[in-house]
Amino acid sequence: MREQLHTIPVNDAFDLGGECPVCNMINELETKSIDFTMGPSYMEDDVRAETSKSGFCQKHMELLYENQNRLGLALIIKSHIDKVINDVEKLSKNNTRIPTPSLFKKQVDNSGVVAYMEDLNSSCYVCDRINGTFDRYIATIFYLYRQEEEFRKKFRECQGFCNQHYGLLYKQASRYLKADKLQDFYKQLNLLYLDNMKRVSDDLEWFINKFDYRYADEPWKNSKDALPRSMNKTNSIIK
Ligand SMILES: [Zn+2]
Ligand SMILES: [Zn+2]
Repeated sequence: MREQLHTIPVNDAFDLGGECPVCNMINELETKSIDFTMGPSYMEDDVRAETSKSGFCQKHMELLYENQNRLGLALIIKSHIDKVINDVEKLSKNNTRIPTPSLFKKQVDNSGVVAYMEDLNSSCYVCDRINGTFDRYIATIFYLYRQEEEFRKKFRECQGFCNQHYGLLYKQASRYLKADKLQDFYKQLNLLYLDNMKRVSDDLEWFINKFDYRYADEPWKNSKDALPRSMNKTNSIIK
């Protein structure tokens, strides 16, 4: 079965500009996923079962709160908390045998509470939804790069990538491209990353200069938003 490609959102993310088109993709998926979670779907049993089980990471809980659907969020969180209470009650009952303390033996958790909590604290319903589609977006980038000169041009003309997504594209390239196309991709990717990192570094330098009274009357050039753009490059944050 041919897996689905997402040529429209991938092209849109490159057309949007900014410091990292892959961050644009995540941003779009994130907005849709938050809207879905807080839309009518939270009343559906299968969705509620998933949100109750996974919960949310810190970032996405904050975005859900900003969505302003206070009743919806309260219902979602209450179901989640009640499931966790129930699970922990069951697990903690398993821990009736008290291990003898020993200098040589490490204390082991037999109940599974530690594993359960580690799973819980690293799971997020919104992240899961995003990641499922995001993998296909990445596959689509390489598909388009392989197939379409128009997309390769768009790729060459973008403003580079953030650290995380430069690393990701570098790592994934050999899965999708071979021989000359792969070498060409690495060359373009490195060029794009380094040239644009240097551009942002120069913008930051000018931004810093502007705090010096000797530069007070000089124009801002491209540096007025240098700080948020550099945060996109280093930490994938879109302001
Ligand atoms: Zn990025
Ligand atoms: Zn998350």
